[in-house]
Amino acid sequence: MTDKTALVVSAHSADFVWRAGGAIALHAAAGWSVTVVCLSFGERGESARLWRQDGMTLDRVKAARRAEAERAAGLLGIADIRFWDLGDYPIRLDRDALFELADLHRRVRPAWTMTHSRVDPYNADHPAVSAFAQEARIVAQAHGHDPGTPVIGAPQVYLFEPHQPEQCGWKPDTILDISDVWDRKRAAIECMQGQEHLWEYYTRVALQRGVQGSRNSGRRMSHGEAYEAVFPTVVGILG
Ligand SMILES: [Zn+2]
Repeated sequence: MTDKTALVVSAHSADFVWRAGGAIALHAAAGWSVTVVCLSFGERGESARLWRQDGMTLDRVKAARRAEAERAAGLLGIADIRFWDLGDYPIRLDRDALFELADLHRRVRPAWTMTHSRVDPYNADHPAVSAFAQEARIVAQAHGHDPGTPVIGAPQVYLFEPHQPEQCGWKPDTILDISDVWDRKRAAIECMQGQEHLWEYYTRVALQRGVQGSRNSGRRMSHGEAYEAVFPTVVGILG
């Protein structure tokens, strides 16, 4: 076992599954404690199928989305999942929420964090959360913020693969071999009953990244998950 920790900041309550489910399952299986914050349920913008049911209300959509995310979290081995219910389309990211996320960085002390791409012309919440999560990390590093608690170091920030990477100016520089945990990620994906149209899409993404991971490393892998790192990787020796 390890005392390593990681923090994933998800705009809506399913994003962490499509975009980071492999990383979460892999690290959880290796004994890491992974914390996930779902800033909203995606109740307005990412729940179309639920809204087609008769008599649907905002509260019922939120409850259904929360139940799906909690089931997925159990399958992935997430140690701590939090739902902040900040609303979506548009998401409300105020100063109090920023300080709360900075404080969470200080409590979790992650070795790495993950959040959304910087740009996404299809979705206003995702880039807003990217900037918000990165700013919270910076505040958590600031000595003048809550001087009674120790500042964090410099955890890498990995940006999730967005739905259409080319339009988002997102370029992968890290591919994680998630072959061993693909079954868990697929089971978590299938918890998202309201977004069945995405199940096969994200399965194809994982297969493509698997092929590319093999091509770039020589390791035999069936499924991959890709990210763009915000900061340089620092090494003691090359190769
Ligand atoms: Zn989303």
